[in-house]
Amino acid sequence: MSISRRKLLREGSQVVAGACALGGVSANASTPAPVVGVDYYQKLGVTPFINAAGTYTILSASILPDQVQAAIALAAQKPVHLMELHKAAGEYLARRLRCEGAIVTSGAAAAITLATAACITRGNKSAIANIPTDMQGLKNEVIVQNAHRYDYDHMLRDCGARLIDVETLDDYEGAFSDRTVMTQFFNAAEGGRINREDWVRVAHKHGVPCFNDAAADVPPIANLWNYTAMGFDLVAFSGGKGIRGPQCSGLLLGKKELIDAAMQNNSPYSNTVGRGMKVGKEEIIGLVAAVDWFLEQDDAAMEAEYRKRAAVIAERVTTVPGVEARIFIPPIANHVPHLLITYDVNRVRLTASDVMQRMREGTPRIELNPSTGGGPASAGLPGGSNVIVVGVWMLQPGEDQIVGRRLQEVLSKDS
Ligand SMILES: *Cc1c(COP(=O)(O)O)cnc(C)c1O
Repeated sequence: MSISRRKLLREGSQVVAGACALGGVSANASTPAPVVGVDYYQKLGVTPFINAAGTYTILSASILPDQVQAAIALAAQKPVHLMELHKAAGEYLARRLRCEGAIVTSGAAAAITLATAACITRGNKSAIANIPTDMQGLKNEVIVQNAHRYDYDHMLRDCGARLIDVETLDDYEGAFSDRTVMTQFFNAAEGGRINREDWVRVAHKHGVPCFNDAAADVPPIANLWNYTAMGFDLVAFSGGKGIRGPQCSGLLLGKKELIDAAMQNNSPYSNTVGRGMKVGKEEIIGLVAAVDWFLEQDDAAMEAEYRKRAAVIAERVTTVPGVEARIFIPPIANHVPHLLITYDVNRVRLTASDVMQRMREGTPRIELNPSTGGGPASAGLPGGSNVIVVGVWMLQPGEDQIVGRRLQEVLSKDS
């Protein structure tokens, strides 16, 4: 097949997939010609950007490491029995992540739903088909701290759960009833008067399982087992954030009995709350490969690399009069070095939101962290009308230079 240069230019740049995406098939006379991949972003007119934000869902979270992409490309070529794959992947992940059981879920959000479904339906097969609309005779109360209520509450309510709010340890002790099925903890919550140890201890005293949503809370790598080791019966992580697996993947980790119950509520089983939360072989293999990749990383080396990138950007922007920069590490979620840029508003006459907009509209497009200018963002990231936040951990090699240069240009223009 020959493609004319004009056709290439007309239809968008096309990329020849290398041997790695084909699974390392050795080159010989009978090897079929390499597959030509079409750049569908270009074809669809969707312009990618440099990710100076972080692992935000709406910004498509993270980029798959090469070895994860290669593993998915290989897995995509062959059919397997989905239940065999789920089981094998779950056992492999449980072993590597030091827990009794694991499921690859459709994002951390699905892990929250499956955890809740497991706690409501365990030991009661017919309940699986009945939730959330036919709750008669089913226990459905989930205890949560006021300060841990958040935008993912709907994932629990999808199972027909009723959330019971508590504030103090006394409230918590008094909130258990014969209808309590689970207690829920938001690991990166900024408020809340009851700590993890007390939360788990009191739940277990009442014989109730404890769930922890730690979706965005790696690195450190060891958090993948820290919370199950602490006694949480079920723990959720996002697959597409720090672990850098497929965006629509997640992990539910925990006690074997509860993981088995969660799986009964999951796709590919029909007539379950989880049937619409399917993961395919590509996501399952992708997340397993991403966990392998992530476990090969080193916390100190990652931090050093992010600090280096932040320093590259800081050096450029601080050449602009009135601009200062420092490194900031959020306490739990997104616990990696970010660059915090502040400036004298008398010398740079732009709001940080204006800077964000100009970076977004420039060439190349650059997305800054959403807490820039005081907008909504992840727990623990400060903002303000003259505060620019740069998330450096998702930058690709060389992009720190580009982000530094563009920020310098934008900040100098109106100073
Ligand atoms: C991102 C996030 C989720 C959802 O994760 P997905 O993998 O996108 O489904 C749930 N809870 C918290 C705290 C998160 O940060």
